[in-house]
Amino acid sequence: MNLTRRDLARLTALGLVARFVPSLSASTPATKKTGYCVIGLGRIAGHFMPAVRNTTTSLIAGLVSGHRDKAERIAAEYGVSPSSIYNYENFGDIARNPAIDAVYVALPNSMHAEYSIRAAKAAKHVLCEKPMSTSVADAEAMIAACKAARVKLMIAYRCHYEPTNLKAVQLIRQGALGQVQAIESTFGFNIAPGEWRLNKKLAGGGPLFDVGIYSLNACRYLTSEEPEHISANASIIDHDGRFNEVEENVSWTMKFPSGIVASCNTTYGANMEGFYRVHGSKGWLQVDSAFVYQGLRLRADFAGTQLDELNPARDPSHFQAEAEHFSNCIQNGLEPKSPGEEGLRDMRYITQIYRSAGIAI
Ligand code: NAD
Repeated sequence: MNLTRRDLARLTALGLVARFVPSLSASTPATKKTGYCVIGLGRIAGHFMPAVRNTTTSLIAGLVSGHRDKAERIAAEYGVSPSSIYNYENFGDIARNPAIDAVYVALPNSMHAEYSIRAAKAAKHVLCEKPMSTSVADAEAMIAACKAARVKLMIAYRCHYEPTNLKAVQLIRQGALGQVQAIESTFGFNIAPGEWRLNKKLAGGGPLFDVGIYSLNACRYLTSEEPEHISANASIIDHDGRFNEVEENVSWTMKFPSGIVASCNTTYGANMEGFYRVHGSKGWLQVDSAFVYQGLRLRADFAGTQLDELNPARDPSHFQAEAEHFSNCIQNGLEPKSPGEEGLRDMRYITQIYRSAGIAI
């Protein structure tokens, strides 16, 4: 059907355009899937890659590894061309690879800044694991590099995309608990010797950078406020060689502008469940296993309502939601929900916590 401009104007006025003009979705090719280049093929990358494969919007398009044989095995599994396997030296060549739209930085903490900045310079979007960096200055440099290159930067705070955490936030925002007064949160584990996490140069610090950051970030998303006062203590109890460079325990409190107070603990010396409990004037809610990949349980008791919901979602669903979100931002020109600025805020609070505990970072 050949429609003139005048015909179209008339049909638009009558609300009939859709019946006469073929639908855009039928004639427009599907949006190109976002191709991720994974940097660092360790444990977390092993969760991210199958999750990306589960999406309809994203795919694994490149790999960066110091071990070619391992990368070739993974490439075969994910249909990545051998010509899209890089090492840490020639990584900048991704700039010439049109299959790669974004990188996923899954390296030890202190390497996040260098590889995020190199990726931005190669004009690729950046999805960077938490903690964003090991210093405020590095986090600021990452944001500046991505801005200068006009690429997106998202920090992989997977709990921002996970349904149980989102439900807890929603209940609090709806006022189900009344005025929130206090929050408790913990997360820690008994670390094995030999981990890069115990090397200050690679990790930046101890459990606060690694797992305590979940409690810190949760207190911020649960309250929708930024802490205005922080005080902290840190200690080393086990003098068995693991804690020659980083702390073993950190305990900190935060006061938010509304007056909400939060108290958090993290450790590398004990298996400490990742959880939070929020106390409000009308009741409480608690999320057990709040920061792990499956089995999250939300319990609540407020104003005559009792909830006990076990999230049966299994790994890799969190990672899938996170990848889908970033790909959607890239494909539709949107800002990620957890941008670099979100990671930078946590870096500033981590620095304050260490300062208050008398630890130089
Ligand atoms: P990992 O040790 O399992 O993997 C690290 C990868 O980096 C390995 O492939 C290793 O070969 C590579 N690497 C390159 N240079 C290295 C060096 N100098 N020293 C050590 N490894 C080097 O670590 P991981 O547990 O996958 O953690 C990677 C990042 O992901 C960390 O920043 C961590 O905080 C984050 N992480 C996030 C989550 C989450 O749920 N979002 C969970 C675990 C880890």
